[in-house]
Amino acid sequence: MDKQALTILNLYKKDPLMGRIYAGNEILKRDKFSHVPFNFDIATDGLAAIMSKSANKYQKKAGRFILNFFFGVQETNNMIESIAVVVDRNDPLVRRWKHKVLERDHRACQNCGETEKLVVHHVSHWEDDPVNRINVDNGITLCSKCHAKEHEADWYHYLVESKI
Ligand SMILES: [Zn+2]
Ligand SMILES: [Zn+2]
Repeated sequence: MDKQALTILNLYKKDPLMGRIYAGNEILKRDKFSHVPFNFDIATDGLAAIMSKSANKYQKKAGRFILNFFFGVQETNNMIESIAVVVDRNDPLVRRWKHKVLERDHRACQNCGETEKLVVHHVSHWEDDPVNRINVDNGITLCSKCHAKEHEADWYHYLVESKI
């Protein structure tokens, strides 16, 4: 194993994300055909925007664009899906999350077993919990009826909360 690879491996153990960025940097440096040099500062800024709770959707889009450019779409999605704070419900990462939850729940309502008109519901709500918007553990497959009931309970909850 060469020295560079060992450095990457050690970095990976301490901080997987930094390890990946560093590895990406090395790969790009070695590619003599690449006419666009990897820019560490731009990439980390992009990543920071993606992880931020306060960045707006345009800043997040810009961040994604940058990482896609350096790492490719698939690798970028793998890299950020556990740490990204999404702000747009149409974000491809939200679609990916829905798909994963549906697969895990075998495409059936986890309350009554219905297999049609399915919805992926956020256990901890979108508005309340930005960091868990695309966390698979925070998703559950429900049919539209059970989903409506679930949200009726919320209204009750909010009413009770507001009285305190
Ligand atoms: Zn149901
Ligand atoms: Zn819901």
